[in-house]
Amino acid sequence: MLGPSEALGWCRTTTMPEQPDPLVCPAGGSPVAWPYGCAALHLDPRVPSGTIPLETLRQLTGAAMERWASAVCDPLRGTHPGFRLQLLGDLAAPLGYFEGGVNASTVSIPSRWVRDAFHAPDAAALTVVTFASDNADILDTDVELNVRGPDNPRGVSFTLDLAGPNRTDLQTTLSHELGHVQGLAHSAEESAVMWSLVRQNDQRRTPTEDDARGLCAVYPPTGVSTCDPGLRGLSFHGKGVGCHAAPAGPVSGRGAWALALLGLACLRARRVRARRVSG
Ligand SMILES: [Zn+2]
Repeated sequence: MLGPSEALGWCRTTTMPEQPDPLVCPAGGSPVAWPYGCAALHLDPRVPSGTIPLETLRQLTGAAMERWASAVCDPLRGTHPGFRLQLLGDLAAPLGYFEGGVNASTVSIPSRWVRDAFHAPDAAALTVVTFASDNADILDTDVELNVRGPDNPRGVSFTLDLAGPNRTDLQTTLSHELGHVQGLAHSAEESAVMWSLVRQNDQRRTPTEDDARGLCAVYPPTGVSTCDPGLRGLSFHGKGVGCHAAPAGPVSGRGAWALALLGLACLRARRVRARRVSG
């Protein structure tokens, strides 16, 4: 029997990507998803000195991928989502998606957090999701981490192990952004990885039942795994996708596309009163 605490909290990102109230799922639009059973991510090796070592970022990103892939869809059958993120070779690719250009999904640490309408000053991270407007296939995702560094003094002081006081957990943030990469929006469940806020000393690294239900709804369990992102090499052109087991089809007629920008707000000192979605 479902009690109030077990109400659904997860949401999917849709082609109407705005989620003005993180406690309410995006209204309307088609839910976006990767069209195949896997997708490749690359680390941008241009990590600024004095931030996070590249090898540490690699290890933590891979671990966050594993946690999502290990989410359980059906406890009785022990099934998992029919999708995997895979970390391929490092690639210094531009952020965003460029029609007809070389595209790759990346995780990067910019030397300076850009000041524009999309990069909230207090954001711990930002994920840009690009999808095809005709069928809502995800085409590209780019994660940026707002890490404090010599040229980014107002960035977030991340910690790797929550050992220090007043630190934001990098593994929690990576898990959250990888949820966006896979097509999840913010959850109304405060314990979920996809909760929209990360406070200092919060630790939500492992997908909860709510997160798992969300990912399993996007990618139901499949019996066979035929996806190998390496088949398409380390990058792809134009309208291709990161993982494709067969030659890419014609790409004409898919001219329109849109960006979804999904941030993780970082609260340093404020307290937030949680509200729940009614019903
Ligand atoms: Zn977020």
